[in-house]
Parts: sequence; structure tokens; C-alpha cells
Amino acid sequence: MKISTNGLILNEQTIGENDKLVTVLTSTNGIIRCFAKGAKLLKNRKGIAVQALSYSRLSIFHGRDKYIIDEAEPISIFFELRNDLERLSLAQYFCELAIYTIPENAPADEFLSLVLNSLYLLTENKKPPLMIKAVYELRLLSLLGYMPYLVCCDECKCYESDTMYYLFGENKLLCHNCFNGDPNSMPLSRGALTAMRYSIFAEPKKIFSFAVSDPSLRQFADCAERITLQTVEHSFKSLDFYRQIRTNLS
Ligand SMILES: [Zn+2]
Repeated sequence: MKISTNGLILNEQTIGENDKLVTVLTSTNGIIRCFAKGAKLLKNRKGIAVQALSYSRLSIFHGRDKYIIDEAEPISIFFELRNDLERLSLAQYFCELAIYTIPENAPADEFLSLVLNSLYLLTENKKPPLMIKAVYELRLLSLLGYMPYLVCCDECKCYESDTMYYLFGENKLLCHNCFNGDPNSMPLSRGALTAMRYSIFAEPKKIFSFAVSDPSLRQFADCAERITLQTVEHSFKSLDFYRQIRTNLS
């Protein structure tokens, strides 16, 4: 069976001398692993189209138990990220998180748009990388069915106070007056909470259309990362690497 689809190459791995096994996020089939025969040797457009961080038009042969890429034509390539270690490591984290969480063999248009928009913004370099990361994480969790509860204080139902607290263990929000001192929690300023709400509730095309600056940005990013890691219960090498780079930069 032949599949024609668009897909983002999330990861590539050399098989034998010349072949590659690539992990692709496709619009039609979600995450799939495909063989790209002879891809190591290809220096043409098809070779580019099956490299990590290429978004490509793909023609894929689906055999009994494997996928093989027949034709590939690049649509957008995000290779510019390779010139900046911080943004490259973040892009790799986006891909690693996608591979770990996005379902296999199911349509994935919304997931694909989210990853592509995040990579596009990273490439553009007009928004802080930390903000792109936090929006990506929270939106991804929401699409996966793990939307954090951020509507109002779980006790008194107030919508806002100067500081609200997110409780990781119970996935709930408490205002300053109702907060019970739970150590597995994080305080959120108005700015940080607004950014978190925006990330999960805004319509898909507008999720990045806001601004948040330090120290709220830092809180927003810390909280999003902690929710993500506690939800998926996994660690990511690319994220560890990104943190190292940030430590060295600061
Ligand atoms: Zn309250």
C-alpha cells in the first residue's frame, strides 16, 4: 500500500552502510518509523528531505510490517537551528518529547502543526526560547488529554489573586488565601498564570501571540516543565543537554 503524506523527520539513525531509519511525524499516520534506503549516499533533494528537522512531502510504501520511503521532497527545512546550540538542543527536545508522547498510526494534524509552529518560531528567533518551550509543552499535554487544571481556585473558585499556587500532585490551582502549604506546588504570579492559561486555551493559531517577561517567564517555564515531566514520567537527554547549555550561558 502507498501512503502520500507530509511529515516532519524527528530523528534519524544510520542502518548498515548506507540506509537510514527515520522517525517521522506524519499528518495521516502520526508517528511512524520508516526505512530510507541508500539515504546516506544521497546528496540531492531527496537526501535533504529525509534528514532530521526536515518537513517533507513523502511517498511511503507500507509493507506488512514496515514502512519504506519511496519519494521525498523537502517543503521546509529547519537546518538553520544547527547554527545555535541552545535552539538546536531545544528543537531536539521538542522532537524527543513528540516521539515519546504522540500516538503511533493515528492522524496527527494538530500535533504536527504544533511541532512545526514551535520549530518555525525557534528559527525566527523573535520569541524567547523559554516561552516557546513552555507553550509547546503545555499545548502538547493538552492535546494528549492531560490539560492542567488552571480555571480557578479549587476551593473558593476565585479566578485570580496576586499569587496562585499550582499543586502538581493533585493537578489543581489554589489562591493565596486557600493555599495549604503543600510542598509539591509552585507559586504563580498573575503574569505566569495568564501565560499558562493562554497556552492551553487560546485557539491553535494564536497560542504564541502573547508576551511574558521575567520573572513571570521563568515561573511559567519552570511550572510547564515540571508539569510535563511529572505527567509523562520520563527524562529526556536533549532536555538535560539544553539545561547544561543554559547554565553555561548564564
Ligand atoms: Zn481560594
